[in-house]
Amino acid sequence: MNQPVKQHLIDPEICIRCYTCEMTCPVGAIEHDDNNVVVNFDTCNFCMDCIPVCPTGSIDEWRVVDTPYTLEQQFEMDELPDQEDIAAPAPSSDEGAVDPIAALLAEAHKGAGGKAKAPLTASKPAVNMYNLGKPAKMKVQGNYRLTDDPDHDLRHIILDPGALPFPVLEGQSVGILPPGTDADGNAHLPRLYSISSPRDGERPGYHNISLTVKREEGGLASNFLCDLETGTEVEVTGPFGATFLMPSDPKAHLLLICTGTGSAPMRAFTMQRQRSGATGGMTMFFGARTPQSLPYFGPLKKIPESLMKQHLVFSREAGTDKEYVQDRIIAEQEAIAELLVDEHTYIYICGLRGMEEGVERAMTSIAESMGQQWEALRDTMREDGRYHVETY
Ligand code: NAP
Repeated sequence: MNQPVKQHLIDPEICIRCYTCEMTCPVGAIEHDDNNVVVNFDTCNFCMDCIPVCPTGSIDEWRVVDTPYTLEQQFEMDELPDQEDIAAPAPSSDEGAVDPIAALLAEAHKGAGGKAKAPLTASKPAVNMYNLGKPAKMKVQGNYRLTDDPDHDLRHIILDPGALPFPVLEGQSVGILPPGTDADGNAHLPRLYSISSPRDGERPGYHNISLTVKREEGGLASNFLCDLETGTEVEVTGPFGATFLMPSDPKAHLLLICTGTGSAPMRAFTMQRQRSGATGGMTMFFGARTPQSLPYFGPLKKIPESLMKQHLVFSREAGTDKEYVQDRIIAEQEAIAELLVDEHTYIYICGLRGMEEGVERAMTSIAESMGQQWEALRDTMREDGRYHVETY
């Protein structure tokens, strides 16, 4: 009989197919087909480089197996297999020795977001309905410039799946397939964008989806998207994401923290909360360079304070000090402290990766002021499906 071994797997239900792990793996152990992103058991050396870069935690799956799952088996998986009931690998002969894989995992987790869980009351998402081999074809319904910022072209793009079923939930993402091939003649990998419209469409019952896209200099997908004309056909994969979802509980309070285009899922959340008549309220910290560069500034201003307390903070507004979302969170620490101990609070962080560290520091300081440990509070919230991060 084989000696049981520990195998690294990726959760196909939670993976958003951003391929960051594949691009990060230093030994080429991660690969994809039209359907899934998978780990080659024979090549993976447990270096853990892929763990902290995964935005969803779907990469952080391990099974002890007698016979490792083959690549073909992993490509076919719609969901992860349960852990089989077999003995763990024999411990080292050293008395009290630590399992080296467990030790590596613990080390990797220091920098990782940890495994996210969906809110208990979230609706069940559909995932991976359309893949690289069979993308959905959607028509561009609209492509609008979102801000007056002369330095950045920020766009609201509406895509219509027509008669194709493409059910989405707020917080999910889609992949956009830029046309053409790369220098090696391979089709481009899809680029991932959060959906910025609510589940039933830009207008209730329309079932179209919108994206929030910033034109990046030399950016393949962003330039393709920002230049799209109405009526053009676009290939779309997804929907992806099964954890960064909102609770259905109307009494839930959403604490939304975002920068720039990281506001995309927040727009979807706030519109859905308005449509559903939820009563628990929302608090938003939204950072941009200037009011002119803050997407959705106009519509946001119309949301009454009774529904959402807004902190729009600016880093480059003439005549005022530079302010980041984490600075305002500290300035509002009493209100945040109350939210942190309320079991109805759900935290969502989306945008620049650098912000995550700043927010962590702010939360640590607020928790300390309450005599609590942020890491413990955060881990409990994450376990309850109440702490969600999507930063790039
Ligand atoms: P941006 O305009 O470059 O920055 C927005 C604001 O964040 C600016 O005020 C900026 O300040 C500030 N900022 C910079 N570093 C910060 C830090 N360490 N902590 C807190 N605030 C910081 O943002 P963007 O270009 O829109 O980028 C947004 C990010 O969201 C991108 O990484 C994108 O990939 C990600 N995202 C996008 C989507 C989508 O669907 N489009 C979805 C999820 C995530 P200064 O520049 O003045 O320092």
